[in-house]
Amino acid sequence: RTDEAEAKKISMQCPVASIDEGALETEWADYLLDIIPSLGYTRKPNLAEPGFIILPKNRRSEEERSAKIHTALVVLGGEDPASLAFPSAIALAECGLYVTAIAGDASKAKSLQDQVPENLSKYIRVIEPVINLREKLFEFDLVVTHYGFTAFEASAAGCAVILLGTTPLHESLAEKYSFKCVQASLINKESFQKLLADKKSLYRDIKENGIHELDSFILNLSQGTNLNCPVCREEKKSWPKDPLIARTPERTFRRCQKCGMIYMSWTIQSHQTEYNHDYFYDDYKKQYGKTYQDDFENIKAQCVRRVSIIDFIYRRGHSSVTPTVLDIGCALGPFLDAANDSGWHVFGTDISKDAVEYVQNTLHYPALLASFPDADVAGEFGVDKFDAVTMWYVIEHFQDLDSVLKAVSKIVKKGGIFAFSTPSAAGVSEKYNTDEFFAQSPADHYTLWEPKRCASILKKYGFKVVRTVSTGIHPERFPSIKKSGSDSKSLKFRMYKTFSMLFKLGDTFEVYCRKVN
Ligand SMILES: [Zn+2]
Repeated sequence: RTDEAEAKKISMQCPVASIDEGALETEWADYLLDIIPSLGYTRKPNLAEPGFIILPKNRRSEEERSAKIHTALVVLGGEDPASLAFPSAIALAECGLYVTAIAGDASKAKSLQDQVPENLSKYIRVIEPVINLREKLFEFDLVVTHYGFTAFEASAAGCAVILLGTTPLHESLAEKYSFKCVQASLINKESFQKLLADKKSLYRDIKENGIHELDSFILNLSQGTNLNCPVCREEKKSWPKDPLIARTPERTFRRCQKCGMIYMSWTIQSHQTEYNHDYFYDDYKKQYGKTYQDDFENIKAQCVRRVSIIDFIYRRGHSSVTPTVLDIGCALGPFLDAANDSGWHVFGTDISKDAVEYVQNTLHYPALLASFPDADVAGEFGVDKFDAVTMWYVIEHFQDLDSVLKAVSKIVKKGGIFAFSTPSAAGVSEKYNTDEFFAQSPADHYTLWEPKRCASILKKYGFKVVRTVSTGIHPERFPSIKKSGSDSKSLKFRMYKTFSMLFKLGDTFEVYCRKVN
């Protein structure tokens, strides 16, 4: 159990991972790995993986396993807080087994040995702790211990295993992982005799852990990085850390106390995603089952709808001019195409060379290979300010969102529109499938937006939210529909659909805001 004050202090200076952490309060840990499966914690680790237990190399042969049980090892660790080792050794000796019991230290071993009743003295040997016990377990027919590493190691070594219910928690863990267990109050000859009579039930097959190498896993963890809130960009120097939202095997998420944004606070990745040819072709296909180009008309249909919303909220009253729109992260240009069709003068930027070339050469729209906000986009296009700036599924990719929003604010005309779409961290998937939602959030999504928190964050940059549209409506992701398997024409399905739109429970959403100052 890590000292809490110490842990908090260290965690403000560098990423901290903790393995099998026994502390109840673990907000300070950037990463939690539980190797020994535990029921006792209400907290969730980033990863629970018993496959990391280092299993013994020395194993009992089949022949040894099938022979009668003659010898037993009783080991409860140095502490044995409930003093169960000695009574267990006595009870096992009464069953006729030759028992080796490990005491906390040499002097305890001697004093316990002296307490062994005369008639059992040839059966019981009390010894001091053994170095590298893991590789010596195979010498015993039976290992009696409580829930912990030794139980798994002994099973893997091919020993029969009986656990002692040191605490009710130990008992429930033993049961959960199907070990035979003797309650602390029932340690006697009869209890052990009963279990020994059903010898087969004392063996467990432990899966080989070949793929899980703890050392390389930890080396990998050490490459991980802590990140600050992309909006506030504030490096905190003293406790408290921002409260935890989710832990996943590769990332940790927290909520910024200052602006309310959910952000990736730790990631196993040491590098940033590169948006190259593969991003719109192979990677896209991997994720969506078709290439971006195959999907172009589909995506464009969405864009036509978005343009109509922008037209509705902006162009009433501005109808005489040809308005300008800059699409940041324009990809292969579906939005530019839709806006152009609707009479906008369109400009695009992207950081993918392939995308920009496609927009320039195939769609014939002005496009710039530039990373926003580093490049002077307006200047490059010879435009002072745009009537609208858009980002479709782009905003979540910025680690320095503050600079991005400041730059956007600068290039949107007063009264102009800033519109974006992003996954929702308040949609049906987040609500009913939380662990999976966060685990599947892509490695390069640094912020997770929620419809109801947009207004206060965007206000800082001079934007007033005029409309949010819940998209990615999936009634089939509600538990009740999932269970009943309602078809999409049923009344129930349609009700959930309406409900999702009304209460903005879509898995994605769009935000349309106006530049007010
Ligand atoms: Zn913040």
